[in-house]
Amino acid sequence: MSQTEQRYTGLVDRYRQYLPVDAHTPAVCLGEGNTPLIRLNNIPAALGLDVEMYVKFEGLNPTGSFKDRGMCMAVTKAVEEGSEAIICASTGNTSASAAAYAARAGIRSFVLIPEGKIAMGKLAQALMHGAVVLQIKGNFDAGMQLVKDVAEHAPVTIVNSINPYRLQGQKTAAFEIIEALGKAPDYHCLPVGNAGNISAHWMGYREWQEQAGNTPVMVGYQAAGSAPFMHGGPVEHPETVATAIRIGNPQSWDKAWVVQKESGGWFDALEDDEILAAQRLLAKHEGVFCEPASATSVAGALRDLKAGKIPAGKSIVCTLTGHGLKDPDIAIEQSKGEDGTKVITVDAELEAVKRALLDNLG
Ligand SMILES: *Cc1c(COP(=O)(O)O)cnc(C)c1O
Repeated sequence: MSQTEQRYTGLVDRYRQYLPVDAHTPAVCLGEGNTPLIRLNNIPAALGLDVEMYVKFEGLNPTGSFKDRGMCMAVTKAVEEGSEAIICASTGNTSASAAAYAARAGIRSFVLIPEGKIAMGKLAQALMHGAVVLQIKGNFDAGMQLVKDVAEHAPVTIVNSINPYRLQGQKTAAFEIIEALGKAPDYHCLPVGNAGNISAHWMGYREWQEQAGNTPVMVGYQAAGSAPFMHGGPVEHPETVATAIRIGNPQSWDKAWVVQKESGGWFDALEDDEILAAQRLLAKHEGVFCEPASATSVAGALRDLKAGKIPAGKSIVCTLTGHGLKDPDIAIEQSKGEDGTKVITVDAELEAVKRALLDNLG
């Protein structure tokens, strides 16, 4: 690839000195990172909570999830090392991101996804970007094992978060938060699946601890039906509406426990209905549309604030890992009223439209 094609900046240029790259590394970037840190105004006020609460909206990355930060680095290094194909197991977002960055780099991508358990937007992305999509009759954990096994027999680079460059890229989200706030927040809450992202954030906070002057308490939230960190070991049949974190055997298990201990944080679990309620709350009262798994961080933070487990007067950042458009089925399903859809069908006449407006103003 020519130098001009690769001049477009993203994470690699922005944080070059903190990443394992040199002047000759051919950066494979799509403008990832630099996502907004949005202060929540309406939700804390409505709930009477004294808190400085922000969401880091990672759904605004190029393929709609934080995975792009890690994939930028993983694919950059794979290309630098001469690899011509990448592979991953995925609940959806990793496959979308891998497919896009492979397309950008002009290499092949193979993705293993669990049959029937992937959000529609994510599948559409993987297909459009030209990945070879292998739908397996098993869950993410089975797919992950297959990827590890097959990579020993074929010339492919694994780009799941067990690839150390993934976490290197993802740690930059912590840098951006410190740049935005002038320090680290008191608490940082994330949804936890494989626990790569919480580990990456902690790495970033530790690396910039000196300039920040502090590090946050790290809190990881899981879905109750897929909560190995609460059970103290793998969960054989993980289930949750939040498919991005439907993972029973986290790949960064040890790293995440180190994060918990070093930061003085904790893990907790939320029921699917609490997760979906937080997703609706963010969409309706803040104008921020994230996917269900992402809302787990806000659902957990609000619960722990109300319970006083997170004391009043603190600053909190919640990572919103992916965009709500990823999973239109669940969004529309939730928007149904008692008698089906909430869309009002009217005649194409002024009177009918006017009546509908007046009926719904109050
Ligand atoms: C991948 C993903 C997660 C989980 O991140 P881990 O690093 O596996 O803990 C959470 N939410 C979304 C939307 C994701 O795509």
